[in-house]
Amino acid sequence: MYCKDDFHVERLGECRFDSPLLPLLDYRQHSVNYVEESDRILAENTASSVAHLRETTSELFGLEPAGARRKIFFNPPHTRAGIVTCGGLCPGLNNVIRSLTNELTCRYGIAQVLGFSNGYQGLVERCNRPTVELTPHCVADIHEHGGTILGSSRGDQRPEEIVDYLEKLEIDILFVIGGDGTIRGSMAIADEIAKRDRKIGVIGIPKTIDNDIMFADQSFGFQTALSQGTEAIRAAHVEACGAPNGVGLVKLMGRHSGFIACYASLAVNDANFVLIPEVPFSLEGAHGLLACLKRRLDDAGHAVIVVAEGAGQHLMQSSGKTDASGNSRLGDVGVWLKQQIESHFTSQGKELNLKYIDPSYVIRSVPANPYDSVFCSRLAHNAVHAAMSGRTRMVVSRWHTKFVNVPMSLAIRQRNCVDPNGDLWMTVLESTGQPPRFE
Ligand code: ATP
Ligand code: MG
Repeated sequence: MYCKDDFHVERLGECRFDSPLLPLLDYRQHSVNYVEESDRILAENTASSVAHLRETTSELFGLEPAGARRKIFFNPPHTRAGIVTCGGLCPGLNNVIRSLTNELTCRYGIAQVLGFSNGYQGLVERCNRPTVELTPHCVADIHEHGGTILGSSRGDQRPEEIVDYLEKLEIDILFVIGGDGTIRGSMAIADEIAKRDRKIGVIGIPKTIDNDIMFADQSFGFQTALSQGTEAIRAAHVEACGAPNGVGLVKLMGRHSGFIACYASLAVNDANFVLIPEVPFSLEGAHGLLACLKRRLDDAGHAVIVVAEGAGQHLMQSSGKTDASGNSRLGDVGVWLKQQIESHFTSQGKELNLKYIDPSYVIRSVPANPYDSVFCSRLAHNAVHAAMSGRTRMVVSRWHTKFVNVPMSLAIRQRNCVDPNGDLWMTVLESTGQPPRFE
């Protein structure tokens, strides 16, 4: 349940400067397309959810629309910005860096844009990571390439040291591009800035290939990732059809949310079984995965299984290990499933030809497709508008097809997951013919 304050976007202070965007937007003598401060994008958009809300509160909650403001907080010629990318790779990182740089430099005309190397390490002086001055010239071609020109990292850095360095370099705005961990880290940085009573804005552009951020229709890179995932499923299908009792097993990204597995499977319609973290499954039992797979092979001679990396963790022993950022290391469900299926069929004396495909690193490192490229640019432009108007501790997102400013605390409050009772999962069940539960 939410309250009105959850949607409140923090500001650094009064906006005293006229936006330099005016001549650009006013070129046809039309009214200038600035966002009205009082406007809101409703958090809920169905009659039933609004009615449900009305039972408990008289208010309708709304998100602040993103976009250019008439008056801005920072005086462009005296403003310096920094950009950092953290966490795992995702298609579109370079597009975001490029569009941030161009918007800040060419449209707002700020004094300098600095790129920090290797995630939060680059924001700690004693880590000695180089900073690079980002100019329209040096970012001109970077969107043609996957990855991030700034590099990334995992692992904790002290917010005190980060703010020391930001102060030393006289950075006014920090753009952080990263996932849930990065956003938590940037909230700690914003806390430290507030403690020192400094006017440094912290704006996030959420990077989550899994599409698991709240109040986001879709995250950047997701469309590219799922279209790459379909290639792996197509290959698995060809392999499966090419051998007696052929099984193609594909592991796709999705630590907690199975959106990529669902969408990629729907896109090619070759998957017979889709396994996601949100829907637990059993191997054993009359309607367990192994029995269903055997029936499918008896009927059709081949099968394709798509598994999200976070699925089936309840069936595997946890290693108890974590990565440098403290995220628990998942068991490898693809390798585990391959072993379980092969040993089951061997014990039954039945022939099986299983091909396992894990395309994760191939998917993460490709350049953004045209849709994501456009989306990255628009997110970046809105991030700059928000930053220049003195907003802080917020991320940009798109909700109900509108670009919005979302407080960081709200964006990471819980994960966006596939609803096992929702229409997406229903479509997956309808397309694959798999049972609602394997048990
Ligand atoms: P992804 O998981 O999609 O790859 P992420 O942003 O979640 O991206 P992490 O490795 O979890 O990736 O975190 C990135 C950075 O944020 C790391 O430097 C990590 O130490 C820092 N971080 C993570 N969680 C927190 C937290 N709770 N407080 C402060 N910093 C954090
Ligand atoms: Mg994360």
